[in-house]
Amino acid sequence: MIEFRNVSKTYPNGVKGLKNINLTIEKGEFIVIVGLSGAGKSTLLRSINRLHEISEGEIMIDNESITAAKGKNLRHIRRDIGMIFQNFNLVKRSTVLRNVLSGRVAYHNTLRTVFGLFPKEDVNLALNALDRVNIVEKAYTRSDQLSGGQQQRVSIARALAQEAKIILADEPVASLDPLTTKQVMDDLKKINQELGITTVVNLHFIDIARQYATRIIGLNAGEVVFDGPVDEATDEK
Ligand code: ADP
Ligand code: ADP
Repeated sequence: MIEFRNVSKTYPNGVKGLKNINLTIEKGEFIVIVGLSGAGKSTLLRSINRLHEISEGEIMIDNESITAAKGKNLRHIRRDIGMIFQNFNLVKRSTVLRNVLSGRVAYHNTLRTVFGLFPKEDVNLALNALDRVNIVEKAYTRSDQLSGGQQQRVSIARALAQEAKIILADEPVASLDPLTTKQVMDDLKKINQELGITTVVNLHFIDIARQYATRIIGLNAGEVVFDGPVDEATDEK
């Protein structure tokens, strides 16, 4: 589903964010990337959907090179990838439903969606997505009136409405308390299991990683230093 082939990323200031990464992530895996701050977790995740360009190598999504993709082809690959951020990235003054509907924009090439007019089927899809993360009763609430955990569930619903096959979550619980962290991680795990969505989550807590991951990838200074199932991810490694 996701394949890194000899991927390196050097930032313009010379810092090497990733050093010759080779990885294959299969469909339906729930991967947690762990590592200290500065290890390269965010650089790795952002490389997958080309939020930034890599310096060397190639990244394949579903056997297609996103590295080489252009124009419409690139947009189609990106449409399959939902992104979840630490700070939720919602349009604060818009309703929850409008935020979730924004996941549908890539499916339309008419101006109507730019002005917020979506077909009924899209609205139903968005409401279903909200229902799946147990927050459909907030559909018509302004998103900045929700708690952090609720906002993060809205951003998960947006990825669902996008019909993403892959979800990339960059420190999705870093600004949440322990109870809310559990709710958000449970939701990510649930959609991974029920819908088979390949999920890659960056975390800096190994204990949460152990509870949820099917496989843990440890990064240090831009290199993979651990890659294996949860039961092998002991503290010594
Ligand atoms: P993590 O997500 O594990 O905290 P990052 O991927 O953010 O790590 O960072 C990896 C390395 O790349 C760090 O040394 C960081 O300082 C550096 N880095 C990240 N973003 C930039 C940038 N835009 N410009 C220069 N260096 C960067
Ligand atoms: P209703 O039709 O349920 O009375 P409104 O038309 O007043 O509700 O819409 C309330 C909110 O629902 C709007 O602010 C918008 O966020 C959202 N909404 C409803 N239908 C659509 C749609 N077809 N496209 C985009 N947003 C919609």
